[in-house]
Amino acid sequence: MPMWPLTEDHERLRLLVREFAKAEVAPRVAEMEATQAVEREVSALIAKQGWIGATIDTQYGGMGAGHLAKTLIIEELSCVSPAMGAVIQASQLGAAKIIRYGNNWQRREWLPRIADGSCLPTIAVTEPGSGGHVLGMQATAKREGSEYVLNGRKCYVGNAHIGDVHGVVVRTGSGSKGLSAFLVEEDRDGLSLLPHEPAMGLRGFSCGELVLEECRIPASNRIGREGDGLAIAYSSSVLYGRPNLTAVSLGIHQALVDETVRFAQDRQRYGGPLSDLPTIRGKLGQMQSRLMNARMLAYHAVHLLDQGTACDADLINAKYIGVETALDSARTAMEIHAAAGLQTNRPIERLVRDAFHTYAPAGTGDIQLLRLAETALGKTHSDWSAPTN
Ligand SMILES: Cc1cc2nc3c(=O)[nH]c(=O)nc-3n(C[C@H](O)[C@H](O)[C@H](O)COP(=O)(O)OP(=O)(O)OC[C@H]3O[C@@H](n4cnc5c(N)ncnc54)[C@H](O)[C@@H]3O)c2cc1C
Repeated sequence: MPMWPLTEDHERLRLLVREFAKAEVAPRVAEMEATQAVEREVSALIAKQGWIGATIDTQYGGMGAGHLAKTLIIEELSCVSPAMGAVIQASQLGAAKIIRYGNNWQRREWLPRIADGSCLPTIAVTEPGSGGHVLGMQATAKREGSEYVLNGRKCYVGNAHIGDVHGVVVRTGSGSKGLSAFLVEEDRDGLSLLPHEPAMGLRGFSCGELVLEECRIPASNRIGREGDGLAIAYSSSVLYGRPNLTAVSLGIHQALVDETVRFAQDRQRYGGPLSDLPTIRGKLGQMQSRLMNARMLAYHAVHLLDQGTACDADLINAKYIGVETALDSARTAMEIHAAAGLQTNRPIERLVRDAFHTYAPAGTGDIQLLRLAETALGKTHSDWSAPTN
């Protein structure tokens, strides 16, 4: 019997992704770590499986399988390679704005290609001068006849170097109604990319900077109306960004537990395996407890989303607890490994570095707590997850 709320179909999908990750992704992890380059080949292979289209409707060639299915795909890939889990989550997040705010023409134009993996979308909101403070952004779009002219910079854009179309949110006016979203194809004149800079972890994943200099795009590339940019950024972040990063952290969390259990059973101390020591058992129990709690919150939140139940606070809480507990378990895993955890030929060191990459995107822990405080104080605005007519 699958664990609630999973169905038999979910379990079959999980096994399919797990087998794929073992066969196609695992053998490439060491090379990604060593070169620190953007991994294009495996990313393309993952996209080809159709998994970026997990929540894209079947009428556009997507899987139409829902958010829980999407969570399982990201989780299983992240368990083997958090970097490749990040690749798929970033483009699923990039698709969100077209799914929700695209017009019929934009959906027909882009979603089938995203679903079959031939087009990777991104979302570009963050700027060097504005992270969590989204309204602090300064990049602009100015209407000139049937075109917009874009200027500014966007940083930490997931899949920047492999993205085919960037979903940029920029200023078309002042204040919270002054943001708008646009699709910018990667080969547009006036759009350039800074070279890939390897980060602490997620090696193989590209998280780069876009530069827009007098970049002209047709007005038909605008997503939604002028002024919808903040709603597009927030709704994408709550409905896709939060649960996607929750899923990446869940995959990392599972891998931390698996690696640490393996280590504790193999390592011999005091005439038996390390796992026989009561303190080590206590720590393993803590890790397992955190993992089970994180998984239940993650699955429950996206199950509500699939059911059409308003659940913004559940999605936010699942991200907060999922990331915090995975980071706690990363520390526990390092304690159990002791000196061996510092060796770069062991996966644990990589997983610990990767775990830190789930903290900032889709809202840091502080931002999640601010949103949850609003829930406690009864000050929430309408839920992005509430059904729309
Ligand atoms: C792996 C990864 C992938 C990413 N992918 C994307 C992407 O695809 N597209 C994109 O646009 N961006 C992306 N980002 C950027 C991410 O969204 C930002 O890192 C995030 O918004 C936080 O911004 P910041 O890092 O500038 O930190 P800041 O927002 O400057 O925060 C700095 C510190 O201040 C705290 N803080 C900030 N605001 C408040 C507040 N109001 N109250 C209390 N404390 C606060 C934070 O918690 C943090 O401790 C990605 C980042 C990473 C690491």
